[in-house]
Amino acid sequence: MQKIGFIGAGNMAEAIIKGLATTGRYEIRVTNRSNQVKLEKMREQYGVIPASFTETIKDSEIILLAVKPKDVNEVMSKISEVISDNQLFISVAAGIPLALLERHLPRNPLVRAMPNTSSAVMHSMTGLVKGQGVGEKDTKDAENIFGAVGRFVWVAEEQMNPLIAMSGSGPAYFYLFTEALVKAGVEMGVSLEVAEILAKETIIGAAKMLDTSDKSPSELRVAVTSPKGTTQEALNVFWENGLEELVARAAKACKARAEEME
Ligand code: NAP
Repeated sequence: MQKIGFIGAGNMAEAIIKGLATTGRYEIRVTNRSNQVKLEKMREQYGVIPASFTETIKDSEIILLAVKPKDVNEVMSKISEVISDNQLFISVAAGIPLALLERHLPRNPLVRAMPNTSSAVMHSMTGLVKGQGVGEKDTKDAENIFGAVGRFVWVAEEQMNPLIAMSGSGPAYFYLFTEALVKAGVEMGVSLEVAEILAKETIIGAAKMLDTSDKSPSELRVAVTSPKGTTQEALNVFWENGLEELVARAAKACKARAEEME
């Protein structure tokens, strides 16, 4: 069993722990600031070991930092007093660059990760960035962790903000599209209950097609669009009204905000 310690027991830590617990390959220690009840719940649900801050670090081979970005500086100072040089340190804190982590932990292998909220259902799309000192074993260890909650890609740190604009914030784009389709259904006289089922199942089905088919998104679209048919009419409205430009503008606005927050 590999020993992993979580600093922070919030939404993101829990989503990752849920995935790791199913593998049976990890002994998981968790600490937070004040919420003992949450830790006890996690012990019952996932078999984690609630531990003190110091124990979590000392008794783990890998440390995963999952506190809010505003708390990172303070927590990093405390971690640096306890951590040993060979421990792999992974941060999921959004907008916290490797340079800041390196300042606090100049001798630890470091990985910066950006999972998304679909970690909760084991479908995260996670971006990983290698920092200082990351060897083959550290690479494999990070891949095993994020592979347990979905898929991952290694990227250069400069790609982190574009990645946030796609997979980090992306789930919300598809929720918004689903909401809009539900509203359109209701406007056309479909009951809210039925409209929600239609919209949700349609996006789930399309996602499964994207996942399992060997066709590209464009090929799948063409395959369901008969010339002069009903789908073609709807797509024409999207194109005439600049859907592609709108998506690009939204993604770029997201990236710009991520840059501001660094
Ligand atoms: P959250 O639910 O607010 O959880 C934060 C956790 O950090 C809490 O358990 C809190 O403990 C703990 N904490 C704060 N200060 C601490 C300290 N000094 N020592 C030990 N634990 C401390 O936040 P979250 O949504 O899980 O986000 C965590 C990180 O994941 C953030 O940096 C965020 O940018 C990143 N992230 C989140 C998502 C997402 O979809 N949620 C996606 C990608 C990345 P108490 O509850 O006891 O205060």
